Amino acid sequence: MDAQHLSKRLAQVAAFIPTGARMADIGSDHAYLPAALTLQGKISFAVAGEVVAGPYENMEKEIKENGLVNQIIPRLADGLAAIKPQDKVDTVVIAGMGGALIADILERGKEHLKGVKRLVLQPNVGEYRLRSWLLANHYQIMAEQLVEEDDHIYEIIVAEPSPVPFSYSYYELMFGPFLLEKKGPIFTSKWQDYVKRQEGVLTQMANAKQPPIDRINQLKDRIALVKEALK
Ligand code: SAM
Repeated sequence: MDAQHLSKRLAQVAAFIPTGARMADIGSDHAYLPAALTLQGKISFAVAGEVVAGPYENMEKEIKENGLVNQIIPRLADGLAAIKPQDKVDTVVIAGMGGALIADILERGKEHLKGVKRLVLQPNVGEYRLRSWLLANHYQIMAEQLVEEDDHIYEIIVAEPSPVPFSYSYYELMFGPFLLEKKGPIFTSKWQDYVKRQEGVLTQMANAKQPPIDRINQLKDRIALVKEALK
């Protein structure tokens, strides 16, 4: 992968960035996403944030090699601290991390989200936790997408601040309101795989010297819930 050839997952994330967006890509690693979007002419300004020195240097290299130093600003910073008021960022991407870490980055950097109109989030796991953060912070989910790549299924969640009250059920927080509505083969594959793995965990727990009854019952309930959604 490079800025000219995005992975299927990042290409799908890119599709949710509005044309002309002023984007911040937090945890950008090689800055492939902002570089690709800038090379395509879809955006003309981006901040690429990284908290670790190695990936930050990768970003600097990628930006220089593609001649994008006037359009993409690399910043070594923790989470949303990479965004400065003068950037006038309107779209924030956080991709390729766990949902709990993404929620933590959003929570700790809330003050940097003023003026941001769209969040494009791609959690690798922990989607329930991330959707719960969005709900608690009045971000309505506008779109969701499942992407299958290299034996992994990734979720993309697009959210925008909502001026009106709204709510999600436990079901919607777990599966995603749009994904639950649409279902389809990738959805089925993701959750069938989940059931298989959790049934393995259940067997292990049941065979323990002192089976943890409460956890077993919780897991049984969750598996039943997923099987219900798969019907
Ligand atoms: N976003 C890219 C993608 O989706 O392909 C890279 C994902 S990579 C697995 C996650 C990156 O997030 C790493 O480079 C890591 O250093 C960075 N990261 C983790 N926590 C961060 C934080 N609090 N602030 C900024 N970057 C962070």
